[in-house]
Amino acid sequence: MNAMIDVQCACGKRFGWQGNFADRPPCPRCGARPPQAELDASDRRCEEDEQRRRTDPLCAAGDVLRQQRVDAGLSLRQAATKLEVGPAVLSSWEQGRARVPESYARKMVELYGLHVPERTT
Ligand SMILES: [Zn+2]
Repeated sequence: MNAMIDVQCACGKRFGWQGNFADRPPCPRCGARPPQAELDASDRRCEEDEQRRRTDPLCAAGDVLRQQRVDAGLSLRQAATKLEVGPAVLSSWEQGRARVPESYARKMVELYGLHVPERTT
């Protein structure tokens, strides 16, 4: 996936490029460029985010469920209210102590704005 990336350099110049963070060109104004390791780390983080959004809550590990909620900008209590479960129940899913029932997994997909591929079965 090659998205357009926009950044603002420390010198204030805004510029964009097509591709990954690792492909970042030097700033057109001052020539500055962050260390490669930092750019690679940004790509890894984006990749993890992307995978998380494609993971079905039905089979996601607890820490993934928690991150999906955090990515959606919701507190445990806010998410529990919208899902219509007690915070303790949501917490038990996020700690991997219980599986998410299918009906709630579907609500989570909607609530968290996930892009889970359609199931064919
Ligand atoms: Zn610059």
